[in-house]
Amino acid sequence: MASRVLLVLALALAMAGCAVNPVTGKHELSLIPVSQQIAMGEEQYVPSQQSQGGVYSVDKELTSYVSEVGQRLAAVSDTRLPYEFVVLNNSVPNAWALPGGKIAVNRGLLTALDNEAELAAVLGHEVVHAAAGHSAAAMQRGMLLQGVMIATTLASSDSEYGNYIVGGAQLGAQLVTQKYSRSAELEADLYGTRYMKRAGYNPEAAVTLQQTFVRLFEGQKTSWIDGLFASHPPSQERVDANEKTAEALGKTGELGTERWNEKMSYLRSRQDAYLAFDDAGQLASKKDYAGALAKIDNAIKIEPKEPRFYGLKGDILLEQKKYLPASEEFDKALNRDPGYYEYYLGRGLAYSRLGKTDRARSDLERSNQLLPTAIANNELGQMMVAAGNTNEAKGYFETAMAASGPIGQQAANSYVRLDLPDHPDKYIEAKAGLTADGELVAAIHNLAGIDVSDIAVTFIVTAAGQDATRTVSIDRIGAGQQGTISSGMRFSDADNVTAVSARVVAARAPN
Ligand SMILES: [Zn+2]
Repeated sequence: MASRVLLVLALALAMAGCAVNPVTGKHELSLIPVSQQIAMGEEQYVPSQQSQGGVYSVDKELTSYVSEVGQRLAAVSDTRLPYEFVVLNNSVPNAWALPGGKIAVNRGLLTALDNEAELAAVLGHEVVHAAAGHSAAAMQRGMLLQGVMIATTLASSDSEYGNYIVGGAQLGAQLVTQKYSRSAELEADLYGTRYMKRAGYNPEAAVTLQQTFVRLFEGQKTSWIDGLFASHPPSQERVDANEKTAEALGKTGELGTERWNEKMSYLRSRQDAYLAFDDAGQLASKKDYAGALAKIDNAIKIEPKEPRFYGLKGDILLEQKKYLPASEEFDKALNRDPGYYEYYLGRGLAYSRLGKTDRARSDLERSNQLLPTAIANNELGQMMVAAGNTNEAKGYFETAMAASGPIGQQAANSYVRLDLPDHPDKYIEAKAGLTADGELVAAIHNLAGIDVSDIAVTFIVTAAGQDATRTVSIDRIGAGQQGTISSGMRFSDADNVTAVSARVVAARAPN
């Protein structure tokens, strides 16, 4: 027996293995194999992009340029990962790397950079996070909360639906908002700067980039605190370390300022449109819909090609219960970009209110394929209830109730309403007992979270070796209420009672 335990332990250790970190050359315990990190990154890349604003699609030349700079760094990195780089349509200044080399940089960070070499410093830093397995290491240390939604997702998601993500995509949401350790940050700076130099860039840009970050950090602009600085906190220590690295490597190489200005000229020329878009979002969240509509119309006037603007306009009209005009704005957004979940979600909700259930269902399902949300699942559940399709409805509510907040609570209540008649004893506790004067009673506790009516409690008593049963009805128990009900049966010592029990056998949600 002992030898078998040892064998199992030895196998576990062999599988865990002691690996050489491809970036630092240091030996470390690696529990998540690279192949698994790659699979995880691939699985989470699309939902993570979706939850962070979707891909910036208006200036495709800019996105392919950013990807080329990224690939130039990936080519000189110490691991051969299937690197990919995208620009996300998000005003929050941020960049992130998923395990396995799936990297993203936000539109809002690009506009803060002065040259191509600074972009190389940002991407080189993220390449190291992926190559050195920093996220994987954080997962091993249990720094990520399993299956729990984190509040920071909302702050950095640039989307009102961001905190409603359900299912497997929650992992990606956690990975892209996780905070790295101080040592991981310094390591990413050091090796990222080396990669820059190897790729032909002037490492001086890693210093100017950090200086910009420290200046912005001291300015305490919320979007920065919520974005990049939440996961990669800047510090004078990092500026000084980068200065030392840059000096040791030699401050020669390309800055690429002219090319950068040329490639960024289009996005910069549309900056006022994105500022108006951000203002519109702020005003809408404060329920100033008239102000929000004025801002978003202004944004559309400056940049009629941006799908997010029509999407936000649709969201505002939806809030105002103007369902048909809302659906038309989502049409415009989808004509420009058919790959972003929010437009399907918004249009699906609008169609559902308009009674176009088939169209609503197909839009909401498509939205869930891109990024599963509690909102879409809850709406689909309600539609299935209306169609009398109880089992399907239960499935949607079960998914939606994993989310926190009012939608999750609403879905949980809807689920209980449907499940209560099938499993009444799951929601209403009954404990039988004899009182001092021999009355058989049960303590009842309504744990359903909603009021419950038409309850039937069956008592079983074993007296003198014989079982007797009696079922008693109760009209209603309020949510969370407890009380005692009588079976109407009374026993004395002569009856020789050896067992009593009570079970709720019927109940339903009041109409
Ligand atoms: Zn970092």
